[in-house]
Amino acid sequence: MASPPEAGRLSLNTATVRAQWSLAQAINGCARHGIRGVAPWRDKLAEMGLKRAAAAIRAHGLTVTGLCRGGFFTAEGWRDDNLRAIEEAHELGARCLVLVAGGLPPGSRDLGLSREAIREGIAAILPEARKAGVPLAIEPLHPMQAADRACINTLEQALDLCDLFGEGIGVAVDVYHVWWDPKLAQQIERAGKDRILAYHICDWLVPTRDTLNDRGMMGDGVIDLPRIRSWVEAAGYAGFHEVEIFSERDWWRRDPDEVLRTARERHARCC
Ligand code: ZN
Repeated sequence: MASPPEAGRLSLNTATVRAQWSLAQAINGCARHGIRGVAPWRDKLAEMGLKRAAAAIRAHGLTVTGLCRGGFFTAEGWRDDNLRAIEEAHELGARCLVLVAGGLPPGSRDLGLSREAIREGIAAILPEARKAGVPLAIEPLHPMQAADRACINTLEQALDLCDLFGEGIGVAVDVYHVWWDPKLAQQIERAGKDRILAYHICDWLVPTRDTLNDRGMMGDGVIDLPRIRSWVEAAGYAGFHEVEIFSERDWWRRDPDEVLRTARERHARCC
């Protein structure tokens, strides 16, 4: 079995404590718990204010492992929203802007049309992202979220888009969304060092009681985290391991300091 991951590689995706903490509190929490990376969500970023957040993150020397999120290319107003997200990611010095591609517009049954809109949307914003020096990370989502969140559902699909566009775009590998994929090892290898822009960790609970907000803490479910880490490392990825847990029934109800302590401990033991 692989050696345990370095503690310094842990990053906190602030969704993990979003029910309890503001972004300012999450930044302070990372500093208190020796977590060196942070990935903010834009709603909390807006609450705190971009300049203030950037200053607090710099003051603690945290790496912004990603900004969540851009994308939703099938929703109204996608262009302006994505251009704002690129500016924010630039200001924060984020390693990437995470793209959740978007699902079916209301009333549509046409997946092909949505996927076409996603291609066009990425084509429209990529030049701006390149100019700003912000890599775009397409995050394939589990197929159970194809209708409402993203109809890019496998790493293979995401990498096909990357092949089409070339520079400035890669993928976010979130174990929750891709652990089941029979082509996962092969596609991680295909992605390689330059296109794996983020690595998100949590666990898949059995049973899963909610398709969005019932993620498990690492070690509480069935994902073979050490194995997937060995694949991303073999591909050359040496970046952060971003813990991202949406958990209405469990972790969002706990003391956030306990959540961070547990995440650190499980990262060392189960990842
Ligand atoms: Zn993720």
